Formats: sequence, structure tokens, C-alpha cells
Amino acid sequence: MDKIVTRFAPSPTGYLHVGGARTAIFNWLHARHMKGKFILRVEDTDMERSTQASVDAIFEALEWLQMDWDEGPYFQSKRFHIYNEYIKKILDSGHAYYCTCSPQEIEAMREKARATGGKPKYDGTCRDKGLSKTENAVIRFKAPLLGTTVIEDDIKGKIVFQNTELDDFIISRSDGTPTYNFVVVVDDITMGVNTVIRGDDHVMNTPKQILLYQALESPLPTFGHVPMVLGSDRTRLSKRHGAMSVTAYRDMGYLPDALINYLVRLGWSYGDQEFFTRDELIEKFTLTHIGKSAGIFNPEKLLALNAEHIRETSPAKLTSQLLPFLKSRGCGAEKGPYIESVIKTLNIRSKTLVEMADGAMFYFEDRVSYDEKAAAKFLKPIALEPLKRLIEQIEAIDDFNAKNLENAFSQVMEITGLKLGKIAQPVRVALTGKTASPGIFEIIEVLGKEKVLSRLNAAVQLIMAKEQ
Ligand code: GLU
Repeated sequence: MDKIVTRFAPSPTGYLHVGGARTAIFNWLHARHMKGKFILRVEDTDMERSTQASVDAIFEALEWLQMDWDEGPYFQSKRFHIYNEYIKKILDSGHAYYCTCSPQEIEAMREKARATGGKPKYDGTCRDKGLSKTENAVIRFKAPLLGTTVIEDDIKGKIVFQNTELDDFIISRSDGTPTYNFVVVVDDITMGVNTVIRGDDHVMNTPKQILLYQALESPLPTFGHVPMVLGSDRTRLSKRHGAMSVTAYRDMGYLPDALINYLVRLGWSYGDQEFFTRDELIEKFTLTHIGKSAGIFNPEKLLALNAEHIRETSPAKLTSQLLPFLKSRGCGAEKGPYIESVIKTLNIRSKTLVEMADGAMFYFEDRVSYDEKAAAKFLKPIALEPLKRLIEQIEAIDDFNAKNLENAFSQVMEITGLKLGKIAQPVRVALTGKTASPGIFEIIEVLGKEKVLSRLNAAVQLIMAKEQ
């Protein structure tokens, strides 16, 4: 079998949304699974709607998803010389012709068709006139008048179109620019793309494209039209259903692997398995298990899957993903064993990196910033005694390990006659500034003796200052 060549061909008319990302992921995964090639092509021939900002946003999203491409990015706007060559080829072979009908004449044809209940389409006035190029002439494809055009779709099965439904569509406008379906086909032919996976909103373009392949005597690629992603109310996914852009998920603290896992599962299955690492997806993904029905985007499920990916990702790997969130909070954390041990205390309780960063800040502060209510409630004179006793006990520890720490707390309980809960809460506020945090022993171990003592002493000072 030939090497599989897939492509992702976004139109840069906005950010990369999750539906588009899923199409990209399917193409990328198929290429990776088959050890084929994945091409990136920017379909920017619509000058009015394409923007550089959108191109940048799409690349940024793909890079964040770590979807590496093997060839490209190609830009259609830089390939007009190739399209012109193919326009000449298709004209020379007699599969296309110049048409000089004016817009008014075309409108009249349509009106006439509508009036008689027919489909508004071009009536073939210039089809057999053998016109040559003149100003304002368009070039039309000579579509077959009878018969059928069939898509053997890898996902949807066989789709049959009656050729009577098609008309002689324009492939080159009066200003000489080629039209969408034509450039897509020329690109896919010249780039050697043999597998086209795209959203099923393109199904209606496919018969036209198939006819162009045939006219250009090129083998057809395999087509797979993926059902749309819908919102919870089964309408097409839109802003009403929540965040749509891939980078919005990045900014909300999702892991790229979690988003990829979620989007792939939303339309593809492998038994009941929900959780997949990136490597597992590459190993297991096949087009045959893409479903025929639309996927319903469920933000809660994505969030739960993200939490699972956070739990399953090694602290070392999470570090580089977490650091930007800490930096944006003004925290000078760096790679190393300290941040990894911080992550170990938070990964089971964080659904997003945003939550994790918020929960991690206290570990890096020089001076704890106390939550007002927490300090008012727990850093009171009654806490002085246990805090002071704990300082004494901790100072005496040489080997700062879990066992010795537990022992230190037991001593304080014994001396003060207080239960662990009564001691732990002021200690927690002293160390973290908050009333909720990872387990007290975990925090103490990570912070280390020096930081713990300095924070406990600061809390004692605060209480004493309040007393005066
Ligand atoms: N540029 C098209 C889009 O963004 C994709 C075309 C294709 O995949 O054939 O929807």
C-alpha cells in the first residue's frame, strides 16, 4: 500500500475551534498511526476573510497541541502559478470552457428555473460555443449531464449524487482567480494527498471535486467525512455552549493531551476505554472506529478527563506546563525537585492547571499572604501555645521526615492537651495562609524545616502584634 498522506487545510478566517481541531487531530493521528505523512495547508484564497492574525492563532493552537506536521505550511495564496497550469490543462483537455454570460443573464436563468420548479443552475448557454478568452469571461467545468457521482466514504459509506443535480460550476472567476473546489483538488493532487478526512459540512463539495479528479485523470483519494461536533442541545457547537477556541482551553489550564483525548473520543471509540495517552492514541487510532453520529460536546466530561490527565502526567512533565501559570501570577518558580514535590501534593486535587497554580502559590511566597477570614479565625491568642510548642519540637528535629514530624505533633498534643484538628488548622493557616490545602504533613515536608519555622514564627509574631 502507498504511504498514507493526510492534510489539515484550515481557512484562516478565525481562531482554531475545537471542531476544526478534531479534524486536524484525526488526520494527524491517522498519518502517525500509519507511519505516513501529515501536511499543513492554509486555505487563504478568500482574501476578504483571511487574516494573518488567524493564521498565527491557528499555528499557535496546533503548536500547543503538539501536532507536528511533516510538510508545509503551504499557503494557497502563493500557489496561483500551479492553479493556472492546471486551469490550462483542464481547458486543453476539453473539460472546461469559457463562458461570457453576464450576471444578469445568469440571474434570468435562475429565475426561469425557479419559476418552473427546477433547481436554479447554469443552463449551459456557452458550453458548446468554443469561446476563447475574453475580458470578464469565467471558466466553467463541463460537468456530466447524466449518470451519478459516488463517494465511497470511509465513514459514511456510499453516497450517491445524481449528476443532473450539478451544473457547470465556475472554476476560474472573471478576474482570473481559481475557485475553492478547484484549488483544493489541485493541491491534493500535487501534494500527493491520498486520504481526505474533513468535516461533513464539505460533503456537498465532494462530488464536484471527484469530477475534477476524473477530468484531470488523477486517482481519487479516500474520503472520510466526519460528523459535526454538537452542543448539549444538539445544535451545531457555538459560543453559546462555552469556550470554542483551542487556546481558550489552554488558558483555562487544560493539558493538550487531555483535549486531544477528549476530542478524539468524541467521535471515535475503542471499546469502552475513555482515557488515552497520546502514544496510545497513535497506536490504536484507526478510521474504522469513527462513528457515524455527531459527537455531543460535554464540558464537564472534558474537565473530568483533564483532571485524570493531570493525575497521570509525571510531575517533571507537568512542571513545564504549570510554570507559565505560576509566572503569570508573578511567581518566580523554577524547574527542579522543589516544584515537582509541590506538584505531587496537588495533582490529585487539581482539575486544571489554573487550580493547581492557585493552590501552589503559597509554596513559593517569601511571606505568606493570609486570607483575612482564615487569619481572623485561626491566628488568635489561643493558637499561640500550640504554635510555639510546635516550633520547639520542629527545631529539635534533625532528620526532617514524616515519622519525626508526626512525633512532633504528638508531643504538642500531649503538652497542650489539644486534639490534632485544633493544632492543625492554625498551623495550616500559618503555613499556607488558607484554611484548605493539601494534607498538613505533606505541606510541611515539601516546605522543609527552614520555611516551616519561619512561617510558624511569622504567625506567632502576627498573633502577638494583634494582642497588643
Ligand atoms: N478549508 C476548509 C475548511 O477550513 C477545509 C477544506 C478541506 O478539508 O477540504 O473548512
